[in-house]
Amino acid sequence: MVSRKQSHKLLAGILLTLFFVVAGILLEGRLVKLPMVSKGESANERVGVIHVHTKASDGSGTVADVMAAAEKDNLSFIAITDHNVAMTESDLAEDPPDLPIISGIEVGTTAGHFLALGIPASWVPPKTNNDRELLASARAVGAFRVLAHPFHPHTPWTDWKTSDFDGMEIWNEDAAWRQSNFFDIMDALLLYGENDQLALVRLASTPEDNFAKWDELLQQRPVAGICAADTHARLRLGFGHDWRFPGYVPSLKVAREHVLVSSSSGNGNPSLASGAEILDALRNGHSYCGLDSLYPADGFSFHVSSGDASGGPGDKLHWSGAARLRISTPSGATSPLIKIFRDGREITEKEAYTIDEPLPGPGIYRTEVFLRQPGWSGGRRWTLWVFTNPVYVTSQ
Ligand SMILES: [Zn+2]
Ligand SMILES: [Zn+2]
Repeated sequence: MVSRKQSHKLLAGILLTLFFVVAGILLEGRLVKLPMVSKGESANERVGVIHVHTKASDGSGTVADVMAAAEKDNLSFIAITDHNVAMTESDLAEDPPDLPIISGIEVGTTAGHFLALGIPASWVPPKTNNDRELLASARAVGAFRVLAHPFHPHTPWTDWKTSDFDGMEIWNEDAAWRQSNFFDIMDALLLYGENDQLALVRLASTPEDNFAKWDELLQQRPVAGICAADTHARLRLGFGHDWRFPGYVPSLKVAREHVLVSSSSGNGNPSLASGAEILDALRNGHSYCGLDSLYPADGFSFHVSSGDASGGPGDKLHWSGAARLRISTPSGATSPLIKIFRDGREITEKEAYTIDEPLPGPGIYRTEVFLRQPGWSGGRRWTLWVFTNPVYVTSQ
């Protein structure tokens, strides 16, 4: 039997431990300084955020609020995608030349959600919830169609029999945090007031299901993989109350798509690449995702050379009998772990800043790079930092 005295002692011990854990997390929030998101991209790299909601659907801010946050976070483009409602011409006119808005819409269907990017303001979707009809209608107006959060716990994509889409979200901030465990969510909530950047880093996880499905699809045809914020800046607390969590400014720092535009874009000045030129590069898989709140991935490079030809994410090369793969990561990050995949199977895993190695043969090559969680409460676990679209090395 546990005496009353012993149970009081036990309770006091638990409360004291809890106090030290909470105090430790609050102190950590103060002490851990994550690098601010900078503008250190290479000459043809444009860094932006895809999949943002405004008041036009269920977000908490206006287009002007989102643009102000995007400017604060040094973004080079933003794709706004409200639920089932296209942007208006006057909203689209809010963008400055060095921060174009890509006009998008998140279309709800019976099979899940998809993004239609580059959609004309005049687009009138057919009056149906059927995914095939909606995908076809968005294709007819030239939209870049991306399956949104295909493995979301509440709204996954279910129609894998269709191939009438161009890309898929591999990482979705809103789906990722819902897969966090109780401790990580509590940790993030405690950290948020003091250090919102670290709080959101704690909620990152590796989307294994998305990667597995992507690898399967890539064996059939090129499918562009992107990361998405899915920012609403609104958490429903019930009884008509909302909390602006996570806010636009911290949320737009987390998952950023680094788009490699052609050097002729922006009339020869890629830093002024238009929304259409950025979209064209995205559609062709010329991009990689950086979870930049962990460390800005600007300048990361993934390159294959075979014979006289060479290329990066999204490019197709012929196998000339030999080829080399080169990866280079920003030098300020702490000990990256680089994994290389060939046709969905991991062939290399190395803690290194750079990799330069021969390729074993033709195949679809992509990489995932990890950094350790900063601070003590993240347990120093490896956290997904960068993933790239593949380079296709073909034998014919
Ligand atoms: Zn959605
Ligand atoms: Zn959404």
